[in-house]
Amino acid sequence: MSQSGITNEELRELYKELILDHARSPRHFGKLPDATHTAEGINMLCGDKLKLYLRIGPEDRIDDARFEGSGCAISVASASLLTDTVIGMQTRDALRFFETLVDRLGGPSAANEADADAAIDLGKLRALEGVREFPSRIKCATLAWHALSSAIHERTRPATTE
Ligand code: ZN
Repeated sequence: MSQSGITNEELRELYKELILDHARSPRHFGKLPDATHTAEGINMLCGDKLKLYLRIGPEDRIDDARFEGSGCAISVASASLLTDTVIGMQTRDALRFFETLVDRLGGPSAANEADADAAIDLGKLRALEGVREFPSRIKCATLAWHALSSAIHERTRPATTE
């Protein structure tokens, strides 16, 4: 895969910017009153806590996604990137993203990443790959994605007004 002259160092800087940007101004932050699926995620190691809300339509499409909670910059940025990414996706595609991301971040040392999951382009989510160098941060980066998987697999009651 050619990066048309962009060095890894430059990519790293760009990704750092992207993460900081999402951490500072998270997208889709807040409750989703008409959520059909929700899940909570807690990362005890770091103290990250979040709740993810999804509205999944009749054809298994994620029509909307939001999250709320608090945590470190990486967990917040990851949740923000998640919502940005999965809105408009079929749930099965979102789950494939989840699996690929977790695999890339936490999988056996990715010396040969070109071979891994070549079918999926993580796009902006590649920003999160930097955490591989900081194993204690991997849970921060994957927390929201585990919540996504739980939310999709376990339907909850549509939220009502008390
Ligand atoms: Zn964290």
